[in-house]
Amino acid sequence: MQIPSITPTEIIQKYDAILLDAFGVLVYQYQPMPGAVQFIQHLNAIGKPYFILTNDAAHSLPSSVARFAKLGFSMREEQIITSGSLLKSYFQDHDLQGHGCVVLGTNDSRGYVVEAGGKIIPIEQDQDWDVLVACDEMGYPFLETVDAAISGLFHKLDRGESVHLLVTNPDLIYRKNELMFGITSGSIALIIEAALKLRYAENTSLGFIRLGKPYAPIFQEAYRRSGTKRMVMIGDQIPYDIRGAKNFGIDAVLMGTGVTNLEKLELGSPDLPNFILNAWA
Ligand SMILES: [Mg+2]
Repeated sequence: MQIPSITPTEIIQKYDAILLDAFGVLVYQYQPMPGAVQFIQHLNAIGKPYFILTNDAAHSLPSSVARFAKLGFSMREEQIITSGSLLKSYFQDHDLQGHGCVVLGTNDSRGYVVEAGGKIIPIEQDQDWDVLVACDEMGYPFLETVDAAISGLFHKLDRGESVHLLVTNPDLIYRKNELMFGITSGSIALIIEAALKLRYAENTSLGFIRLGKPYAPIFQEAYRRSGTKRMVMIGDQIPYDIRGAKNFGIDAVLMGTGVTNLEKLELGSPDLPNFILNAWA
């Protein structure tokens, strides 16, 4: 399958709002991608609407702005859509403000839940919470916390109580460095779902709601902010960035690193990017 290429200038001309993935698109191994800082500078100068869509829920918005600034990117908080920041409208839409919440994640992850109106409860007090939010794989003793989560959920479901299971960052794995990979909160959600399925096979509605890419809520939030569906998503991961954008009904541009095999993709597949972007510069 031959995918046409597109240049940064053509992207600006063709679309009314630009959605950008962070890692592998603007940043690579703690360095800005060549030309990426200048591209963002140009968008700022011409006032072109753009948003960074990141599944990160381990860092607050002010800390995300500071992390980008350190790499030379000048962005405002409202231009960064983290998966953690999606909790606010989810809690609003589902009347979860004031509910007891257990958070698997960092201090900043808990900050997102507090901002959304949730009340943070220690995981052992399973009488007092009914919302479990999996934000990140860091910030807690892994085995003890996952065991407590599964036990707490079993207790609640045995008592006939209802629970809300949310995962902000649905990523399964990430690359730590050239040699090492790690699991992230999406994998933890899978472990908990497997345990629930084993014990409550008849309850088919038990499962996590997923907010980040490739799921719709993060694209819906970008649409709410931009006010236009003439948006394009630029990403480097087919199963997250490209599939998510195409399923939401907007165009997708694959950052061409040469490692993705597009040969096997069929016409009409949501995994098929509209264009390839070979470089920023
Ligand atoms: Mg990426």
